[in-house]
Amino acid sequence: MKVLVINAGSSSLKYQLMDPDTEEVFAKGLCERIGIDGRLTHKVPATDGKYEFDIPMPTHAEAIQAVLDALTSAEHGVIKSMDEIDAVGHRVVHGGEKFAGSVKIDQAVMDALEECIPLAPLHNPANITGIRACQKVMPNVPMVGVFDTAFHQTMPAKSYIYALPYEYYENDKVRRYGFHGTSHKYVAGRAAAMLGRPIEELKIITCHLGNGSSVSAVDGGKSMDTSMGFTPLAGVPMGTRSGDLDAGILEYLMNKYGYDIKEMLNILNKKSGVQGISGVSSDFRDLETAAKEGNERAALALEAFQYSVKKLVGAYAAAMGGVDAIVFTAGVGENDGPTRMAIASGLEFMGVKMDAEANNVRGKEAVISAADSKVKVLLIPTNEELMIARDTAEIVGK
Ligand code: ADP
Repeated sequence: MKVLVINAGSSSLKYQLMDPDTEEVFAKGLCERIGIDGRLTHKVPATDGKYEFDIPMPTHAEAIQAVLDALTSAEHGVIKSMDEIDAVGHRVVHGGEKFAGSVKIDQAVMDALEECIPLAPLHNPANITGIRACQKVMPNVPMVGVFDTAFHQTMPAKSYIYALPYEYYENDKVRRYGFHGTSHKYVAGRAAAMLGRPIEELKIITCHLGNGSSVSAVDGGKSMDTSMGFTPLAGVPMGTRSGDLDAGILEYLMNKYGYDIKEMLNILNKKSGVQGISGVSSDFRDLETAAKEGNERAALALEAFQYSVKKLVGAYAAAMGGVDAIVFTAGVGENDGPTRMAIASGLEFMGVKMDAEANNVRGKEAVISAADSKVKVLLIPTNEELMIARDTAEIVGK
């Protein structure tokens, strides 16, 4: 079976054509600058081919058409015709409380996605545009929506409720939703496989640390808490997002500098996090270089990030009444050994003992705790596209 996985952003669109059973990726790539001019980067893993094209993309529909043209091209294509695409799986950021799993997309689902727009005004419109564009170009191909929020719908009320007047939950759906669910679910599943134990028996803390970061408590295969909240702004400090902060700061800064709420949120989303603390960069590689050269604010940004993740590891171990495995994934989690070490060291009191040599590894599945560590610490590269393709194949196959 060949599944096309689409992850549509506001001005970009990532794609992968893969077989979810063999896990073979036939082609993958990225459309950028949609609505501006348009650029396609198309890669064919089997031949190590990389192709770049400037193609006008006034809307997502032209971007999807460019992807299909690239996939079926005589020179760098991987399929003879569009008919070889059995299904399309779409990443959708916010499924609200409606979707606790992936669904086949029909008109009722599209209507529900529209209803979720106020919950994710930056992301869902782009996802919906991506789906519509695909429907236009491939009207007869079944499509499935896979939600970032779905995995976290198992959270108990005590985890998702905010201590606000209850009517804001009842009437306005203000609650913790959590994000990166597809990634947390994937790495928790892989962790169980690596440990050779049923996931139902395991308490796992998954640390998805990338440009955006979130930490989850996965008890018996189900998300029971997660650090992102009503929006992906909450939790640990991120590349440019503040993470959790005292809401009183908003009033103080808005009054003092005359910011309106839009300006304030722009600061919290785009100018904060490790970028904000360091004034150097949102990229952990730059921060580590700067810290090594003696930049104290870069060192502080790294420390604040690591400390914040470490605190959640402790909190989630307490919440679950123990922990069997801690997993690191995503850009920082997969590549940044010193950050993993800083987070997971000093936790010997709770049975976590790192192995410095084993931790000197990047981008592949590995046990990075010591042989006698009660709690296993694992590096597991995430694969959201594979999860989306699997869910899509399963739902379309039904
Ligand atoms: P996104 O949240 O955008 O999907 P990723 O999961 O791809 O982000 O993570 C991107 C981040 O990973 C980069 O901003 C960078 O900070 C970090 N990163 C990538 N490679 C390394 C590395 N070798 N060392 C430290 N950090 C890295």
